[in-house]
Amino acid sequence: MQRRTKIVATVGPASDEPETLRSMVLAGMDMVRLSLAHGKLEETLERVTTVRQVADALGVHVGVLADLPGPKVRAADFPEGGVMLVEGSIIDLVPAMPGDRSSAEQIPVDHPTLLQELRDGDSVVLGDGGIQLLVVDVDDERASAQVVIGGWAQGRPGVALPAGRLTLSSPTPEDLRLLVALAQVGVDAVAISFVRAAADIDVARAALPPGPAPMLVAKIETQEAVDALDDIIATADAVMVARGDLGIRCALEDVPHYQKRIIRSGVAYGRPVITATQMLESMVRAPTPTRAEVSDVANAVFDGTSALMLSGETAIGHDPVNAVRTMARVARRAERDFDYEGWGRSLGRAQAAEAQEAPVSVRITAAISAAAWRAATDADVAAVIACTNNGATARAISRFRPTVPVLAATPSLRTARQLSMAWGITPVLADWHDTTDDIVWFAVKAAVESGVVDVGDLVAVLVGSPTEPEPVTDTLRLVRVR
Ligand code: PEP
Repeated sequence: MQRRTKIVATVGPASDEPETLRSMVLAGMDMVRLSLAHGKLEETLERVTTVRQVADALGVHVGVLADLPGPKVRAADFPEGGVMLVEGSIIDLVPAMPGDRSSAEQIPVDHPTLLQELRDGDSVVLGDGGIQLLVVDVDDERASAQVVIGGWAQGRPGVALPAGRLTLSSPTPEDLRLLVALAQVGVDAVAISFVRAAADIDVARAALPPGPAPMLVAKIETQEAVDALDDIIATADAVMVARGDLGIRCALEDVPHYQKRIIRSGVAYGRPVITATQMLESMVRAPTPTRAEVSDVANAVFDGTSALMLSGETAIGHDPVNAVRTMARVARRAERDFDYEGWGRSLGRAQAAEAQEAPVSVRITAAISAAAWRAATDADVAAVIACTNNGATARAISRFRPTVPVLAATPSLRTARQLSMAWGITPVLADWHDTTDDIVWFAVKAAVESGVVDVGDLVAVLVGSPTEPEPVTDTLRLVRVR
């Protein structure tokens, strides 16, 4: 059985060579994340092309997730390899000018009104919270700060000013400009940073150009987003537990609890959930992870996450391929002990309770996918095949975490790529047809050709009525493969 939890790996300077990308795919990378906070648009578009060429040459579907910078304030680039900020040393924070670089003495910050907003005694956090500075003096040219907790600064770390000093509004006009350019090149998914309400997702969706749309991934990284979780999840296409900023903007000890809550709600709504940040952080430099990191990855699998994400480990780390391979190994082992039966049963109960409120098409898909899960659990079914145009039917059955393989038979290459962040789904390309019978026949044929099912197997096929004015998945058929 293939690994069920997907792996999203951030591609950066350490991993953008075709040969490295190829090895990362072979090691288990299902989706690539490109962070626009760290790379320029042109560089990102070049990486999209390289990823597609590598995936095509290997004959696999690798999705591309572009992550918008949002309103986050960032430091100018540190030199390659990073700089050690030593506890007790004094550093000047200055508003950044074009071309500035950070050093151990001076950190230019991408925020023109920095000096008006900082005061003596303020605490400033760099990156995902590892480095903390205390402002000791502010004048017209610089804010001098003492390093309270030192550490290794690399890339373009975020700079968190004291809570309430900055109002974050997302998506920014720059985000919307980037979103349009990314949609035009057919990126599979776009992550919106610092979402606070469902309306932020609506703003992004309204800005999309006509044509096939990328999935919109809501990054949950503020207390406001946690408070509005269900509305945001219902409006977005997928969610990310963005633990880096979440741990700065909420109490650190809340993070594991919020992670569980976000995963539960995301999966219940049929939205893939990506658990992100510091999963194997020590592997940025070390060849093996800490025991705590291994446990963290395994626990995210037990929590039910759809996908696990690597950030610095693969973007700037010393061995990106090893990081992917390690994550794949840990996830596969954790899946052996996942409580599939308990998960499916409790999801079924939760759905029955919510059913009265949902629109009828959602209720039909929920009921029919619950029936497919029952069939996969009770009957001797070798696989579930979801016939799907846009991936929704595949995601609906994936929610139940069936023990048997789930194939998504789709005519759309884009859907196949977008499913690379959905739990347990193997996409197969199959022609679309005008009748339910033909769709089922060609989907089963594609499943046999993929090698996942064999002649003689019983398979559960989820399919819709293509001639209905609003096609909805309304049929479950148990088929003996001949
Ligand atoms: C995070 O904060 O956890 C995150 C994924 O966002 P970014 O890496 O863009 O800061």
